Formats: sequence, structure tokens, C-alpha cells
Amino acid sequence: MRIGIFGGSFDPIHIGHLIVAEAAADRLPLDRVHFVPASQQPHKLGEHRASVEDRIAMLELAVAHNPRFALDRREADRAGTSYTVDTLRSLSAEFPEDELFLLVGADAAARLSTWREGDVVRQLASVTVLSRPGAGPASDSETGHNLEVPAIGVSATAIREAVARGDSIRYLVPAGVAAYIAAHELYRTEGSC
Ligand code: ATP
Repeated sequence: MRIGIFGGSFDPIHIGHLIVAEAAADRLPLDRVHFVPASQQPHKLGEHRASVEDRIAMLELAVAHNPRFALDRREADRAGTSYTVDTLRSLSAEFPEDELFLLVGADAAARLSTWREGDVVRQLASVTVLSRPGAGPASDSETGHNLEVPAIGVSATAIREAVARGDSIRYLVPAGVAAYIAAHELYRTEGSC
């Protein structure tokens, strides 16, 4: 099996994440995409706005009806900082027969050279950089392969800001996720973006 690994804060998950993951699954192709919410990302220490359990609940709602998508709790369940290399070691131990593809956005790809044990990361998984059409290669052959995916101008930051302003986020996140954010009053507090 060919398994994609898509990590992030997912605070919250939005259609940009879902569309690029679906496109990567078609194009690479992948049998499954694991969405791996970070418990605490090394690059985003102290910046999370929703609890890990809220972020997981929203991810569950978002991936529920896609047979290729799965929620993977391994980083959320691990105490302390999550490093990609540890996540990949854990996945390759669990799925020794399968081929792993690490999906990274262009922003994360730019930092790839600073990742802990980057050479081991590249041994354990094919690093695939999701780049916007026309943006040119976001990486060189050392960091990973480029895969052009549709450009969707949505970010979790913009969604948190919209909620804080009282604007609608309909169509920017799956309906179930919008309902969850409203029911749990997430992202409303001033200065929470
Ligand atoms: P924030 O605005 O809080 O930084 P984000 O929307 O970028 O959040 P993350 O959870 O940090 O979301 O993203 C996880 C991965 O998804 C990253 O590699 C990021 O590059 C990618 N990504 C996020 N939004 C998009 C988008 N609209 N199109 C393509 N990739 C995206």
C-alpha cells in the first residue's frame, strides 16, 4: 500500500487541506492519506488556539466520509514535542510492507533542511512538496519531489480571524466542522488569532 502522511496543526482543518490531500491521493497515487495533527509543533510552540481534542474532533468530522482519509492520533497521543522523524519511524514500524509519502506544504518545505534527522526522514519516506500551479518548484531534488496541486486561498489563520470577527466560514470548512466550531465557541476570544 502507498500511504500519504499529512501533518499540521489543523487548527482548524479546512477545505485547502482536504483538496490538496485528495489531489495528492489521485496523482501520486495513494491508497490512504493519514492526517496527523500535531500535539505541539516545534515551529508553533504555544500558538495553538484549540485544544488537541477539539482539533481531533474536527478532523474526525472532516475525514469521516472519505474512504481514503484517516485520522492518525500518533503525534497527539505522544507526550511532548512531535518530530516528523519519530512519526515516520513509528509508521514504518507499524506498516513495514507499505511505502510512505510525506506530504508537505511549500512553507514547510522551505524549512526542511532544518528538520531533525532530515536524511533519515528522506530514507523513511518520499518527501512530496505540494506546490501551487505556476509557483515554480518549491524545492530542489534534495528536499523532495514537487507535486502541483490546486491553489486554494484558505488558511486556518484566516478562518480563526473570520470567526473572531463574527464572519461566516461556510464553504471554507466542511459543514460539520463549522457546526462544531459554533457549538464549542472556538476561536471567538479576542486575540485568539
Ligand atoms: P495556519 O494558518 O494556522 O498557519 P494552515 O492553514 O497553514 O494554518 P496547517 O495545519 O499549518 O494549516 O497546515 C498543514 C499543512 O497544510 C501545511 O503543510 C500547509 O502548507 C498546508 N496547507 C495549509 N493551507 C493550505 C492551502 N490552502 N493549500 C495548500 N496547502 C495548504
